[in-house]
Amino acid sequence: MRAVAAESRRVRANRRIQIELEVAEQIALDLIQQTALALRDWIREAGGEEREAMASLGAYPKMIHVASARIEDEEIYAQIVQDDGPEGHFCVGGGIGRIEPNVWGLQLVYNSGYPILAYALPDPVARKQITETIIHELTHFADPGLRVGSRFVAGGPPRSSEEYINRPEEVKAFGQEVIYEMLTIFPELERRGIAPSAAAFRAAVVLAPTWQQTACHMQERNQQRILRDAYQEFTGRGLL
Ligand SMILES: [Zn+2]
Repeated sequence: MRAVAAESRRVRANRRIQIELEVAEQIALDLIQQTALALRDWIREAGGEEREAMASLGAYPKMIHVASARIEDEEIYAQIVQDDGPEGHFCVGGGIGRIEPNVWGLQLVYNSGYPILAYALPDPVARKQITETIIHELTHFADPGLRVGSRFVAGGPPRSSEEYINRPEEVKAFGQEVIYEMLTIFPELERRGIAPSAAAFRAAVVLAPTWQQTACHMQERNQQRILRDAYQEFTGRGLL
């Protein structure tokens, strides 16, 4: 019985996850807008607008529900948590998990060193980082390999960055980020006169920032898996 359960979990873990990136992007946009409004409300309620606006996010309560979205009859609440992050990182991480039956919490970990207004008025870099974090976490949300019945099973603390990046669920989630980035890069190449082709596809892969950051830690077969998923996505969209 255990072997059967383990086997079916392995099969589910290997299944391709294809999230609708435009839908995820729209959810991200909604959540970002709701978050910006919630942040502005905080500033207003806290009083002393000028001073508070300059304060870092670290001055605010640790975790606050700021926004919600509804997916597949399940409610997702976005929560902001804060942590230190290197310069240039607005969104330093994320997470998703069940809070109650049919209620999910999506955490966005914001850089506590930045002024709160950086999030109330997110610039394109911040917006891209937040959107990709949401795409990453929604891929986990959609992953049957992470669910046993109605339970959501997260894979414990990572032993190393290699071990973490090569987990099947992380390969899928980083893969969706890579595909999302490639879909922005590909038309840019075309605007510069580079016709859609296998070479252009390959160029888009190596130019995708998430690929640059993760592929060097990824086993060959996991790299191949992302390339295969990306190729399917591109042919499915009629881009190749
Ligand atoms: Zn992940």
